[in-house]
Order: sequence, then structure tokens, then C-alpha cells
Amino acid sequence: MDIGEATVGGTLSAGGLGTASFRHGLQVDQVERLDVVTGTGERVVCSRSRNAALFDAVRGGQGQFGVIVEAWIRLRRAGSRIRQYQLLYRDFDRFADDFERVVGDGRFDHLKAETRLHTGKIIMAAGIEYDDDVDDGDALRGLGHDDVTSNDAVDVGRAGIYPAWGFSRRNHHPWRDWFLPWSTLRTLIAQPWLTPRSVPRAPFSWTGVYPIRAAPEAAPLVMRPQGNLITSYSILAVLGDHDWATRLTGRLREIDRTLVGLGAKSYLSGHVAYAHGGWEEHYGDQLALAKQWKREFDPNGVFEPNGLPFG
Ligand SMILES: Cc1cc2nc3c(=O)[nH]c(=O)nc-3n(C[C@H](O)[C@H](O)[C@H](O)COP(=O)(O)OP(=O)(O)OC[C@H]3O[C@@H](n4cnc5c(N)ncnc54)[C@H](O)[C@@H]3O)c2cc1C
Repeated sequence: MDIGEATVGGTLSAGGLGTASFRHGLQVDQVERLDVVTGTGERVVCSRSRNAALFDAVRGGQGQFGVIVEAWIRLRRAGSRIRQYQLLYRDFDRFADDFERVVGDGRFDHLKAETRLHTGKIIMAAGIEYDDDVDDGDALRGLGHDDVTSNDAVDVGRAGIYPAWGFSRRNHHPWRDWFLPWSTLRTLIAQPWLTPRSVPRAPFSWTGVYPIRAAPEAAPLVMRPQGNLITSYSILAVLGDHDWATRLTGRLREIDRTLVGLGAKSYLSGHVAYAHGGWEEHYGDQLALAKQWKREFDPNGVFEPNGLPFG
């Protein structure tokens, strides 16, 4: 996760992706056990082997089946420092070749990339956690970037976190996130559906990708394309102008249709509103299962549907 504001329960109800997802997948796929209070008021312990249906329902369940009150999530040891590289490319194909290479060879511990629409550049943000030192020559060997900067930080957990001003309530924040097949990477970074007039200049917008490794036993209600490796794609903007924000929100709905045509599934990270047919398209065969879970775990409809199609 690259924000400090979201809660553990809220993130597990959506999915949870960040710069380490290219190696570790989504946060929901790293959960060992949950304690959940269902709609009937029962507190139930669930895991892959115990009350597995509830475990599958609440992970990515958008708060529709129960309240997660405790979570056991796998942890790993982090390095004591992190070096963050910003590799700048003007040639998108050269970037894509390098991105595929570093996702595969695992030389970095953190990865994401961002297209800067107004300047025609693409930035790979790559981090290495370390205890003693990092050899820049080894880290960047064979890569074809046009320019690179780096900085070191000691607070590894918070190093990639977005600044709080980006989320100020004084501004409008049109945003959407999707999961797409990895094969769409070159189309996504070129973003033929956006013009420099659609979104404000960086840092007031972020349009980019996070590679995401598939999990063997993925949470079934976090809808995503098939494949060992997928990518997220996000368009986020910070706008003071209400009319511009309204226009962009409409444009994001149109872009959703284009991306779904490329095999995308929406990441339900907030305010995704589909009509009934849209939800059927989104959930596919899982919709019937989710409705069954809703009847089982929230028979009296205690949890607000919030536009979701499970009731
Ligand atoms: C500014 C911003 C930046 C974000 N950046 C990222 C990011 O980097 N990576 C990423 O993966 N996602 C990101 N998200 C999406 C975020 O993970 C989801 O919106 C998440 O659901 C927010 O959690 P919350 O604690 O704010 O929950 P809320 O917004 O309060 O609730 C969101 C949903 O989760 C449910 N919920 C909340 N708590 C629980 C609980 N304890 N048990 C069961 N259901 C619960 C609610 O019912 C609701 O449906 C971002 C969101 C925002 C607003």
C-alpha cells in the first residue's frame, strides 16, 4: 500500500496493492486468518482451512459479508534502508523492455512506473532495501534509461507513501484503478485514451502501473485477469476545478469500457458504480456465489449494499 490513511480491514475488503506486489501479489492473498463479525452478530474465525467460505467472502468483499476485526497477515523482514531510483525514459519501447526485464530478474524490491503525459516521459520508480550498501553499477546494469536520480531513506515502510496533500478534502480526486493482462503493458503506458488536456500535470496527476504477481489461491471476489503476472493501471488526479473533475470522471467511465475491452477488471478501490449488467460483467460466475454468501452471512441485510449487486 502506498498510502498511510487506509485501514487494514478496508484494504483487505478491496485488495491491497503496492510497490512490492510484483513479488508478493495483493495483500488479500497474504492473509493467514481473519476474525470476522458477520451480519448475524457472530464472531467467527476463518482461514483457508476453517470456515473457508467466509474467508473467501470477506477478502475483497467490500464490507458486504462481515466486519474484519482481526487479521493475521504474513510479514517479511525489511531492509534497514532503501535506495529509490527514478529511471527516466523517453522511448516507451525501451522502457517496456527494461520493465519486463527487471520484473523478471528480481534485482529490485519495489517497482512501479508512471507516464508523464505532458512531457512525453516515462519514469520507472525502483527501490532496493539494504542493510550495508547498494552497488549502483549492479542495480542499473544493462538498463537503457536516459537519466537516473536516486535517494536513500531509513523509513522503508513509508518511503513510497504518497504525500498527504494529494488527498486533501479541499480538492476533487477523480480516480480509477484496473487490473489488466500483462500483455497490455505497452498499450497502457502509451495511454492513447488521454490527452494532455484530460489530466493536470504531475504531480497533480498520476497515471501508471504496478506489476502484480498472481497467487496460487487468490481471493475469489477480487476480480482480475488470468495469468502469472498482471498489471494494475491507475489514473488519479487532484483538481481544484469542479467542472474539470466532472469531465474527467465522465472520461474515466468511457476509458473503463475501452479497458474492459482489453481484458481489464476494475479494482474496486472506491466509488466504482456499475449498473446491474456492468456488475454481471465484472463478477461473472462469482456473482451467484457472492449472492449465496450474502444470504448466509448477512441474511437480514445489516451491511449497506453501497451499490453492490449481492442482495
Ligand atoms: C487516497 C487513496 C489512496 C489509495 N491508494 C491505494 C494503494 O496504494 N493501494 C491500494 O491497494 N489501494 C489504494 N486505495 C484504495 C483503498 O485500498 C480502498 O479504498 C480501501 O477500501 C480503503 O480502506 P479504508 O480503510 O479507507 O476503508 P473505507 O473507505 O472506510 O471502506 C472501504 C470499504 O471497505 C469496507 N471496510 C472497511 N473496513 C472494514 C472492515 N474492518 N471489515 C470489513 N469491511 C471493511 C467498507 O465497508 C467499504 O466497503 C486508495 C484509496 C484512497 C482513498
